[in-house]
Amino acid sequence: MERKRIYLCLAHMSDAGLEQKYIQEAFDTNWVVPLGPNVNGFEKDLESFVNEIKVPEPVEGTTFNDGISTGSMTCLNKRLVALSAGTAAVHLALIACGVGPGDEVIVQSFTFCASSNPITYLGATPVFVDSEKDSWNIDPELMEEAIRDRIAKTGRKPKAIMPVALYGMPYDIDRIMEVAAKYDIPVIEDAAEGFGSRWKGQVLGTFGRYGVLSFNGNKMITTSGGGALICPDQEAWQKIMWLATQAREAYPYYQHEAIGYNYRMSNICAGIGRGQMTVLDEHINHHKHVQKMYEELLAGVPGIHVHSQPCSGEKYDSNYWLCTITLDPSLRVKGQENAYQTVIQGAVGGAAGVVHATESAHTDCEPNANVEAMRVILDQAGIEARPLWKPMHKQPVYKDAPAYVNGVSESLFKMGLCLPSGPCVSDEDVEYIVTCIKNAII
Ligand SMILES: *Cc1c(COP(=O)(O)O)cnc(C)c1O
Repeated sequence: MERKRIYLCLAHMSDAGLEQKYIQEAFDTNWVVPLGPNVNGFEKDLESFVNEIKVPEPVEGTTFNDGISTGSMTCLNKRLVALSAGTAAVHLALIACGVGPGDEVIVQSFTFCASSNPITYLGATPVFVDSEKDSWNIDPELMEEAIRDRIAKTGRKPKAIMPVALYGMPYDIDRIMEVAAKYDIPVIEDAAEGFGSRWKGQVLGTFGRYGVLSFNGNKMITTSGGGALICPDQEAWQKIMWLATQAREAYPYYQHEAIGYNYRMSNICAGIGRGQMTVLDEHINHHKHVQKMYEELLAGVPGIHVHSQPCSGEKYDSNYWLCTITLDPSLRVKGQENAYQTVIQGAVGGAAGVVHATESAHTDCEPNANVEAMRVILDQAGIEARPLWKPMHKQPVYKDAPAYVNGVSESLFKMGLCLPSGPCVSDEDVEYIVTCIKNAII
């Protein structure tokens, strides 16, 4: 029997088919526009979710937080705007923090380009900061060094600080907020991959001035494509809403006194989102379950390490969006002498077959041969695996941007792989994947 291909993280609809019910309602009531009852309803659902703090119960003898809480309370008062993409949320948050041409923004280098690209849309410059070993996220000490050095070099403070919850893992938000407060710089949390991850029981994205969420097809929940911005208060919320709807002034005709954007989420997409909110907890628990299985099944395999949250169940509560592993450089994998022999035909996640042809199979910074060999073996076994995000300070497009590095993200990039983790990945799939990994090792 032919196996179904196992993907990194596929969208998964609620068993009750609520997504279709909400979409049908939108059609029936003719709300096929970028506003409407589903958008409002989705925003309300998101607000209830992010405003609730769960008092976490430490799990004895493990770094694993199973999400069981001793209690929960609604203590926050954040407002949300649903948008067409997480990238749009990053863009609007930067604008709201006053980022403009010539400004600098501190951003985690170990991330997807959607964190940093909007900085350049605004004519500003990203200042990349490397990661700490434990969480793989922005190193608060190095971040402070970067802030001090930028002030010394340019005479001006960076306009914002953007940590990123890589693969769902929380950043050390306590220390980040401490440094940010010391220099009075607003924090924009990129929690696009960390929707539902918590720090001391509080949802990521609710600590900084703004928080970015993504509902792309491969994220924790999906609206097919979409995102949201968590706003600190009513005033900020109004400003974001206004910017997201082409900055219309209150006149019977279209009067524009500022440049706005067409970034509001459609009522159809929001219908999917409302259905997805009913399975969010289920999805998070499943991702955690898959992570736990990988941790257990790969525990005894020499040369392979599963990335797990640092030893403090009370602080870290990752949604484990993707399970990630690293391969020791000394680990020998079948076929590694032939790695990178062929030029890749399709880019990772390339749009409808549109890819830029490359001339060489190599770049000056790429995953080790054993990692590439493992990727190819898994691919041939019908398993999608992918290298970690290539740090932005190693991307040619950002070669001129200032970077404060300690080698952590570059070294992880060379050793790391993401494994299938979504709600469509079964226990049997995980066992099969681990067997394939073990068989690939010489
Ligand atoms: C997915 C993602 C985004 C952007 O989200 P989109 O909805 O795809 O625009 C931003 N930052 C990070 C780190 C992401 O992974």
